[in-house]
Amino acid sequence: MIDYDSFYIGGDWRTPATATRIEVRSAATEELVGSVPEGAERDVDDAVAAARRAFDDPQGWARWDPARRAEVLERFAQALESRAAETARRVTVQNGMPITLSRNFEGGFPPVLLRYFAGMVSENPQEESRPGMLGGTSLVIREPIGVVAAIVPWNVPQAITFLKLAPALAAGCTVVLKPAPETVLDAFLTAEAAREAGLPEGVLNVVAGGRELGAYLVAHPGVDKVSFTGSTGAGRAIAETCGRLLRPVTLELGGKSAAIVLDDADLASTIESFFAATLLNNGQICWLGTRVLAPQARYQEVVDTISDLARSLAIGDPLAESTQVGPLVSARQRDRVEGYIAKGKAEGARITVGGGRPDGLDHGWFVQPTVFADVDNKYTIAQEEIFGPVLSVIPYTDEDQAVAIANDSDYGLGGSVWTRDGERGEAVARRVASGTIGINAYANDPTAPFGGIKASGIGRELGPEGLHGYQQLKTIYLDPPS
Ligand code: NAD
Repeated sequence: MIDYDSFYIGGDWRTPATATRIEVRSAATEELVGSVPEGAERDVDDAVAAARRAFDDPQGWARWDPARRAEVLERFAQALESRAAETARRVTVQNGMPITLSRNFEGGFPPVLLRYFAGMVSENPQEESRPGMLGGTSLVIREPIGVVAAIVPWNVPQAITFLKLAPALAAGCTVVLKPAPETVLDAFLTAEAAREAGLPEGVLNVVAGGRELGAYLVAHPGVDKVSFTGSTGAGRAIAETCGRLLRPVTLELGGKSAAIVLDDADLASTIESFFAATLLNNGQICWLGTRVLAPQARYQEVVDTISDLARSLAIGDPLAESTQVGPLVSARQRDRVEGYIAKGKAEGARITVGGGRPDGLDHGWFVQPTVFADVDNKYTIAQEEIFGPVLSVIPYTDEDQAVAIANDSDYGLGGSVWTRDGERGEAVARRVASGTIGINAYANDPTAPFGGIKASGIGRELGPEGLHGYQQLKTIYLDPPS
């Protein structure tokens, strides 16, 4: 059992305002594995006040030389590294992510992101002197935007947390982090690492709670910027609040991306990449290509290859090294996924593999990897995000139709094109309405912007663009002509 009694606020562990608690269960065993305090509005007030003080301090974090901040972030990276194995274990226990993946994404990625953004601000000037047209010079400065409310989901909690924390802290912002209630235990480990690394007080504050507390944080008068990753529904609510307040907001929301298999694809030899691009993390990643578009001429072969893949996957204890598919995060999520499977059947799609719960796993929120063939893109299972190990194979006649189907979606986040011809793949990728897309693989590189269009969100994370989300521009007109 992992239990915490206090919140990390203002550089210290503080007694929460109320005695209410959040209990965390293992996705694989359903057993209680830990608990943390549930934050009340007063805890958020304290956390925002601490972040506000830290940001407004004239000698504080925001005013430090970026290289000095980078030194602290390097210590933070080291403190996270020394906890990486435990971080990965906690995430896996909480949300069912296969341990091999959580070592990489959850243990490994956060220090990489801290170093990347710390290097960016310390090695590149964040201001520029620009000769003007009117005779003077303009000094254009990228200033930290202020106090950031970072709200994250449970599916890839650490990587998503650091997509926000790393650029925000490097830029000189201070942060109030609210993790999802399903995955709080890893966030408290992050707080321990921050404390050990000597982050100045108030620079990072962590308060656990659910959606009401999140909504309270979003609207808090002490917050300057909201950075949210989660469902499109919650994103819309947050965008409404931020619109009313004229508060800058970055939204990374849902997806229903297309994996376009071209008629020259060699799916068998890229099957591992195909798995990673369509079914990784038990299907609980927003950018997965869960609509597989297959050419009519090779339709049956594609359906067979994908069905064989789904059948071959090792399902079970997510802490076991050999496991490729673990349980879903919660009973609620399993019910949701099973609801979509029932809907797909009712709409007329044909299950080729899976569709139920795996044999012999009587505890835990497992769902078999499931493939639907003969899916029409209009079906609910092709239009709505399922967030589970469920693929829909949709036939197309030619490239134009493949692109049209890919783009016939409310979402536009990820996607992939599968082909032996890289140039052809790129040409198709350019026509897909999506914030990101891969050729014969999909992986978010830290140096390139990641994010969505349409209902998948607003704004970008990663790359220099990810840093810019935590900066605001200020122009000082020097020597203006009289
Ligand atoms: P969710 O939207 O219910 O919750 C996400 C987080 O927001 C949680 O911390 C939750 O407590 C909080 N929250 C919920 N409603 C809120 C509100 N109105 N105001 C403030 N905070 C609120 O989503 P979830 O079920 O936890 O996560 C799954 C969803 O996240 C999926 O739809 C998935 O596609 C999306 N997601 C998107 C990305 C991306 O980068 N685009 C990445 C991961 C997950």
